[in-house]
Parts: sequence; structure tokens; C-alpha cells
Amino acid sequence: AKDNGGFVLNGRKDWVINVDRAEFMAVIGAVAENKRKSALRVFIVPRAAQGFSLGIKRRTIGLDHLYIGEAIFNDACIDKGNVIKIDEAGSGYLLLTQTFDLGRAMVGATSVGIARAAYETALDYAENRWQFGAAIRKHQAVAFALAEMATKIEMARLITWKACWLMDQGGDYSVSSAMAKMAASNIAQEVTAQAADILGAAGCEKGSFIEQLVRDARVLTTIEGTNNMQKLVISSQL
Ligand SMILES: Cc1cc2nc3c(=O)[nH]c(=O)nc-3n(C[C@H](O)[C@H](O)[C@H](O)COP(=O)(O)OP(=O)(O)OC[C@H]3O[C@@H](n4cnc5c(N)ncnc54)[C@H](O)[C@@H]3O)c2cc1C
Repeated sequence: AKDNGGFVLNGRKDWVINVDRAEFMAVIGAVAENKRKSALRVFIVPRAAQGFSLGIKRRTIGLDHLYIGEAIFNDACIDKGNVIKIDEAGSGYLLLTQTFDLGRAMVGATSVGIARAAYETALDYAENRWQFGAAIRKHQAVAFALAEMATKIEMARLITWKACWLMDQGGDYSVSSAMAKMAASNIAQEVTAQAADILGAAGCEKGSFIEQLVRDARVLTTIEGTNNMQKLVISSQL
């Protein structure tokens, strides 16, 4: 709703990372009742804005070092100057998809890092843990699991690099970024689970590094659009 040239923002957005400390929030809101793509704009909302408050604080399985919670806008007054490309129909939707295109490759990179940390933890354990007269990495079942993990990480890294390379080239990276996010986050879940298996009982220990990695990997397939959403993006551009 317009008010003195500005806007009055109403609504709630749940599961927002750093919602408790961000000085400014980029909020996608509709400037018309129909809420179609053409009505969407990006509102830059200062946390000091009248009418903004925090809602429920979420406790998540992974990325639990971050504050994640709900933003509530109750007749929040937003200056006209804080609305990006206000006169451009659909600018909010375009900026949203462009932001996702960038962020998805970033989740790909996060996934590679988490998978690599799990792999290195498992490799170190397998080199130092002896059973049946040999380091367990000499047992073929463990060696083959490590080989699979190393190969998956290489695939995740390369597909993420490709998306980032396309960004640097100024190319169209929408599909590549979605592929990187989907493939690498799936791989992070697979590799962290395999690593926990290699660690035996140590892979079941609460508070351990591997526990953190397994839990962090869990949320990667969901954030920045679920992997089903990545399939929608990819399949729509085949
Ligand atoms: C740790 C964490 C941090 C987050 N941080 C942020 C943040 O900073 N900012 C922010 O805005 N959001 C954030 N989110 C929200 C996140 O982006 C959403 O939770 C996610 O996009 C899924 O939306 P949803 O929870 O509404 O799932 P739903 O839409 O309810 O989906 C449930 C299931 O149905 C499937 N599904 C739904 N629609 C379709 C369809 N059309 N076709 C096929 N399958 C479908 C989904 O893939 C999923 O498996 C965060 C979430 C988490 C868990």
C-alpha cells in the first residue's frame, strides 16, 4: 500500500539467516494485491524500521551456529527511495532469480568444502586405525569407499567451478549454478554419510566434527531453493 509516496509493508518471512543482526534486509514484496511476478519489487528495509520485529527463532539441524528466524513486518513504513527499480514491472522477480543464480553456486562451494572436510577426516582415521593387522584404508571396502568419495568431490568441485567460470565470463550461468547446487549438495550428503561409516563408533559420537558435517550437509539440499526447485530451473531451460 502506498502512503505519502512510500510503502507500508505487511507480512512475515520465516527461516531467515542472520535476521537478528542484519542492518538491512532485502525483502521481496508485492506492490499490488494480485501478487503476480510483475507486482514484485525489492524493498531495502533497515532493521530500525518502525513496524519490523523478530518472530520465532528456529533451531536447525545444520548451520546451527547461525541465528535463523522469522521477520515480521507489521505496517512497516518504507521510504520510496528504499524500493529498487520501483517503476519497473517485475524488477523484484528478476532480481530475486539473479540473486538465486549467484547464491546457488555458493551453496555448491559450501557443499564441496563440507564434503572435503568429511573425506579428509575419514582418510586420516583410515590411515591410523588398525584392524585385522592393517590400517583400515588397506581393506578394499574402505579403500573403495574413499575412492568413491574422492571422485564425487572432484565432480562437485568441477561443476561448481564451471558455474563460477561462466559468471566470470559474463555468460548465462543460471542452469550451471542450479546444477552445481543440486549435484554438490547431494554429494555432500552422500560423502558425509560415507565418512561417518568409515569412522565406526567415532562416526556416531555426539558433538564430534563429523556430526557437525553430517548435520550441515543435511540443510544444503533445502536452502537456496530445494533441489526439486533446481530441477525445475534446469528442466525449463533444456
Ligand atoms: C537452514 C535454513 C536457512 C534458510 N535461510 C533462508 C534465508 O536466509 N532467507 C530465506 O528467504 N529463506 C531461507 N530459508 C528458507 C528456504 O529457502 C526454504 O525453506 C526452502 O526454499 C524450501 O521452502 P519450504 O520450506 O517452504 O518448503 P516447501 O515449499 O513446503 O517444500 C516441501 C517439499 O515439497 C517440494 N516441493 C514444493 N513445491 C514443489 C514443486 N512445485 N515441484 C516439486 N517439488 C516441490 C520441495 O522440494 C520440498 O521437498 C532457509 C531454510 C533453512 C532450512
